[in-house]
Amino acid sequence: RAKADGRSVYRFFEMQMDSEARERRLLEAELRDAIANGELVLHYQPLVSAKDHQPTGFEALVRWNHPIRGLVPPAEFIPIAEQSNLIVEIGDWTIEQACRTAANWPEGLTVAVNLSAKHFHRSDISTVVKKALAISGLDARRLEIEITEGLLIDDPDAVIAKLAEVRDLGVTVAMDDFGTGYSSLSYLLKFPFDKIKIDRSFVDAASDDEVARDILRAIASLGKTLKVTITAEGVETEAQAEFLAEIACHQLQGFLFARPLDAVELPHYLMTHVPTRAAAVKAEAELA
Ligand code: C2E
Ligand code: MG
Ligand code: MG
Ligand code: MG
Repeated sequence: RAKADGRSVYRFFEMQMDSEARERRLLEAELRDAIANGELVLHYQPLVSAKDHQPTGFEALVRWNHPIRGLVPPAEFIPIAEQSNLIVEIGDWTIEQACRTAANWPEGLTVAVNLSAKHFHRSDISTVVKKALAISGLDARRLEIEITEGLLIDDPDAVIAKLAEVRDLGVTVAMDDFGTGYSSLSYLLKFPFDKIKIDRSFVDAASDDEVARDILRAIASLGKTLKVTITAEGVETEAQAEFLAEIACHQLQGFLFARPLDAVELPHYLMTHVPTRAAAVKAEAELA
């Protein structure tokens, strides 16, 4: 009896695994066509100055506008893309698309692009970046690359060399989701970062946890020592924004200011939040 039950439980998991594997393969096949079909879209979430809450730039966040599934979040397809060479195609597309879009924004606003470690390892990233800058005409100083600690595990020397090449172009390199990985401190000293983005779990915890607030203070002062820009992500309340400004974080990002904006919402945001500069760009475009 017990044996039979065990067997049927096993069968159940086997079937479930089958369907998960099938689902994955289906998604991967569909993802192959998604780029060519124009189904990938970028949404842009503002980053604001901690001092006056004025936008300093945007982070590009990819979504898959699937004909049946609707808007698929990156967490559901980036891992699949990473298992094949699709991540290189998606990454190349994202960098170029983000640069083209940002080239039309008011002068000075930056654009940040998330880079998968797999893409980074599998391609000559400075060539990809150079090409996107040339095609779009975007000033390198307006582009930021966001990478996570996972990138730093394999072949650190090769990664340092590649990051240095990108920085030599004038591009800003940011460490994303800071605090969620391991060996953060030693990596920070070893790798050439310009910016640290504190993971939103710390910002979240800070609301009712004095230890989390102490950790945030420590990260902010570390940023000062290393002379890097400190950005906090996932800011949802006025109290969090106030505290982060008080401890001298430079930039804030989160739903308190804006959610990631689509192609319709973005121009509206620019007109209402950077009106004079947006108007100047528009007038210039009309004259040309
Ligand atoms: P991330 O780079 O840390 O991006 C921030 C994520 O937090 C975004 O989720 C954003 O919508 C969300 N977020 C922003 N503000 C708040 C807030 O106040 N509260 C809460 N609860 N969430 C907030 P999204 O767009 O689903 O992206 C998830 C992750 O997927 C990103 O994390 C990034 O690691 C990855 N990703 C996004 N776009 C790309 C891409 O183009 N390429 C690659 N390789 N990865 C990407
Ligand atoms: Mg990011
Ligand atoms: Mg992040
Ligand atoms: Mg994060």
